[in-house]
Amino acid sequence: MDNPRPGVYRPAGMAATAKELVPLEAEPGASPSVGEGFARPLPRIIALANQKGGVGKTTTAVNLGACLAELGYRVLVCDLDPQANASTGLGINPRNVAASMYDVILNDLPLEDCVEPTSVRNLFVAPASLDLAGAEIELVPAFSRELRLRRALAAVVDDYDFVLIDCPPSLGLLTVNGLAAANEVIVPVQCEYYALEGLGQLLRNVSLVQKNLNPDLELSAIICVMYDARTKLSGQVVREVRAHFGAKVCQDVVPRTVRLSEAPSFGQPIIAYAPRSRGAIAYRELAKEVSGGAPQRAR
Ligand code: ADP
Ligand code: MG
Repeated sequence: MDNPRPGVYRPAGMAATAKELVPLEAEPGASPSVGEGFARPLPRIIALANQKGGVGKTTTAVNLGACLAELGYRVLVCDLDPQANASTGLGINPRNVAASMYDVILNDLPLEDCVEPTSVRNLFVAPASLDLAGAEIELVPAFSRELRLRRALAAVVDDYDFVLIDCPPSLGLLTVNGLAAANEVIVPVQCEYYALEGLGQLLRNVSLVQKNLNPDLELSAIICVMYDARTKLSGQVVREVRAHFGAKVCQDVVPRTVRLSEAPSFGQPIIAYAPRSRGAIAYRELAKEVSGGAPQRAR
């Protein structure tokens, strides 16, 4: 596969382990500490993607979003997962919403018509609903089926500094819509066995979307989540991820904490549920790292 852009990692086929991923810039063992910086011009549309379930996409979309909002950015979390966990985690009951991303993707509803405020100032959510599960199939015969979200977001993107797209755990048409609409992909990686399994396929899909639909798409960051300092394994995984992805890997690592897993059942991001917890501190640091700090102008 050609390398479409410098700095984008080319997977060697369907890589199952880190050893099969081919880093294009960072040499294995290269110092991870410098970082190329994660700041980009606003507005930024970021897809949280990883076709594995339970790796921290939604937790990161909700909590990174809340922390960016706390810094003063206007943030929209766009819930593309039929399980609607990001919506619930932000206090929205997907059974009660009048309009959802389903209507936006399938029925051309203007995206602004489904946006709801959250308990966090500056943080908004475009909720999913359970019928989004059918969208994967209903989209198949639809006209410009990969670009539905991109078109819908174009009308609202100037109202926000960050749009975080919470993708479902698959590489189907909804995720392709997410990737086609984004400028950046951020991949959460769990500090567990098999953490890198499937990353090759994800990155191959990112390259395909980049070539065919969205040349601006960039793998901007990898975030190591569910880090357990008590185990050697967590440290090994972080080292392995850094050896292969170098400066793409965020310095801040999200710890595995019970608080982070409890917060969604209260419909709250971690900064509201347990503002001084380790999880809150980690996502605050990540928000600074990803954004480069508070916005220059007040909103
Ligand atoms: P995904 O969206 O990739 O499927 P989630 O963000 O929903 O993954 O996370 C999967 C599960 O792990 C959820 O129950 C979530 O609450 C929990 N979880 C996510 N991050 C952490 C963490 N850092 N510490 C503890 N539990 C976590
Ligand atoms: Mg999820």
